[in-house]
Amino acid sequence: MVKQMKEDFQDIQSILQQVLEESAAFFEGMKSRPAALQPPQPQRDVLPSEGLGATVALETFKEVYAPYLSGSAGPRYLGFVTGGSTPAAIAGDWLVSVYDQNVVVTEDSIAAYLEMETINMLKDLFHLPNDYSGSFVSGATMANFVGLALARQWVVHQHGVNISQQGLYDLPRINVVGGALHSSIYKAVSMLGMGKESIHTLPSLPGREATDVSTLEEFLRNNQGEPCIVVANAGTVNTVDFDDIGEIIKLKDKYPFWLHVDAAFGGFAACSPKYIDLIKGMDQADSITIDAHKWLNVPYDSAMQFTRHKHLQVEVFQNNAAYIGDSIQNPEFIHLTPENSRRFRALPAWFTLKAYGKEGYKEVVERNVEMAQLLTERLTNSTFFRLVAPTRLNVVCFTLAIEGVTMDDIKKYLDLLKQDGRVFLTSTMYQGTPAIRAAFSNWGTDENDIEIIWNALSYANGEM
Ligand SMILES: *Cc1c(COP(=O)(O)O)cnc(C)c1O
Repeated sequence: MVKQMKEDFQDIQSILQQVLEESAAFFEGMKSRPAALQPPQPQRDVLPSEGLGATVALETFKEVYAPYLSGSAGPRYLGFVTGGSTPAAIAGDWLVSVYDQNVVVTEDSIAAYLEMETINMLKDLFHLPNDYSGSFVSGATMANFVGLALARQWVVHQHGVNISQQGLYDLPRINVVGGALHSSIYKAVSMLGMGKESIHTLPSLPGREATDVSTLEEFLRNNQGEPCIVVANAGTVNTVDFDDIGEIIKLKDKYPFWLHVDAAFGGFAACSPKYIDLIKGMDQADSITIDAHKWLNVPYDSAMQFTRHKHLQVEVFQNNAAYIGDSIQNPEFIHLTPENSRRFRALPAWFTLKAYGKEGYKEVVERNVEMAQLLTERLTNSTFFRLVAPTRLNVVCFTLAIEGVTMDDIKKYLDLLKQDGRVFLTSTMYQGTPAIRAAFSNWGTDENDIEIIWNALSYANGEM
């Protein structure tokens, strides 16, 4: 063993103590750290021939890289849909690295059982019935990939083909149909060999991002009984609109299709009685995607896929023929997910669910929506901004009240905001209008932050 490794092993207490201090300082300093920043281009780093040891590595990192990390886990990073990490989730995640379990099978550790228990608690949180199973994957993109892989398997079964064995050859095109689909659906369809051109985009209801279900029925009718894949949105990224999943489900009586619901963050509507109706019918989908690193506020990277067709999952992701016998009844995670070796990803989720419970998540969801509404009120009462859509849940979609506002105007404005650092917002295009999104999904954001955000928005407006 090299000297540095031996010494680090002996000094582990002191090394972890230094990491604890750095962690606590980062966590406590979150509110004053810039929400986002433009980092400098780093000097080319070098691989040392003789190692530095963990303490010097930490010191070097703190000097060279740490000052340029963003406050993306903080309360005023409203770009994309970015969660943050609750204190309990951080505790759990930290231990994941220490325990370093490979959550593949149940025969060597209790870690896989903890994942199953965590999935059960999440089914409770999202009001999903018992016939769903689920697993952790790295993000909603991978959860969509898994859901659509099962959908693909189901469709080709209708043609008497097992795609995992025979591949996609000599099969008719597999149609995927949905409204304002997230870009990750396109990516998943590409990875699955179905081709992005197989996606049929349906029109939305007037002034909405929710699919016009009558056009879905028309599509299905014209599809002449061919099995296909329908993807429903439970929370679009621009305006958090929801497809009427209950209405879509009813079409299953007449037409053969697999229903996949992308509820990456909208699924959390289930946490509050005020919003649960938005996801009505989701509990009858064939597969569901929900992100954990968004509204559950666990560290990256983490999401769940749920399905009520576990047997198809085994067909697609089966890893070892020798396991076939057992795996049909009680498949291990290695036969259910794209990964073989897997991180103990359930642990931070377990920690935060235990620590804050249903009430904790109800409060976070309701407060985030309330904060979105507070910002909406300010924007509505100002002459400098204009909402481009009503605020339905936790995302505010607005633009600058400039005649003929362009994407260059928006980019310039967002750059000014980023340089200021108090808040981070991202741009979008909403029904042809260059716009700005403010997405609330951090457990810590409160009225005080809205005040700071408003001051920053007004300041940047003055600088334009
Ligand atoms: C964020 C998001 C995704 C992709 O999630 P990742 O976790 O980044 O992979 C997919 N669908 C929707 C609706 C999302 O909001």
